[in-house]
Amino acid sequence: MRVIAITNQKGGVGKTTTCVNLAASLAELGQKVLLVDLDPQGNASTGSGIDKSHLKDSIYQVLIGNRTLQEVVVTSVVSKFDVAPSNRDLAGAEVELVNELARETRLKQAILKLNDAYDYVLLDCPPALNLVTVNALTAAHSVMIPMQCEYYALEGLSDLVNTIKKVRAHLNPVLEIEGLLRTMFDNRNMLAQQVSAQLVSHFGKKVYESIIPRNIRLAEAPSYGLPVLHYDRASKGAQAYLELAQEIIQKNSH
Ligand code: ATP
Ligand code: MG
Repeated sequence: MRVIAITNQKGGVGKTTTCVNLAASLAELGQKVLLVDLDPQGNASTGSGIDKSHLKDSIYQVLIGNRTLQEVVVTSVVSKFDVAPSNRDLAGAEVELVNELARETRLKQAILKLNDAYDYVLLDCPPALNLVTVNALTAAHSVMIPMQCEYYALEGLSDLVNTIKKVRAHLNPVLEIEGLLRTMFDNRNMLAQQVSAQLVSHFGKKVYESIIPRNIRLAEAPSYGLPVLHYDRASKGAQAYLELAQEIIQKNSH
């Protein structure tokens, strides 16, 4: 079982889109996948076809210790992966956990109880370096960083890399960078090409070869509660996420 935190404290870089579509693509390639929605916005839950308004339990109950992960998991029927959903309740967890014992390792303990039931567990983090994100970084084997190739992208990256170093030193010595993913990429944009080249020269093989293009189908699919694979399989977005899933499976097989 490989636990991957999909993180970037910068908002709107494609974390949730990556989480949902990578989950669907890995499932399509025969992997057992659990997506854990750690954002109170619950976009990954909605995008996977789960109705947040009718949730009895969510990841919030898991973090405060009232439920196990298995008890809150819902199977996304169309997409063939499992989801531990989230909703607004999670916004309260931050405050409630502050004075609790072992507050940073709540998610890690919950995931350990899964007993390797999945091949991949993907954690969709909120756009903040808060306690919930620290829980994700503590529970994960690795971090996947989706990013847009913009001027300020590299600056934000150094904050994240520092946080990863701190978590590694104090909470999770095995944590590594799984990879950097270029999202919403527009090949005709000169600046995007320059930032992309800088990224590769800084991070080398840590940058995925697969690149996610800007593709309208990726933005449309969530409003139907579908990963893009089940909305428009032939689209460039669907094909790019399938390619990424293959790259990840290959990387983790040796
Ligand atoms: P947040 O920080 O708020 O959690 P996020 O990092 O999870 O945001 P997403 O919600 O995945 O980012 O994406 C932000 C917006 O960009 C969404 O409207 C999404 O549909 C759109 N989007 C993401 N990736 C692509 C893409 N490759 N092409 C076109 N639109 C995209
Ligand atoms: Mg998101």
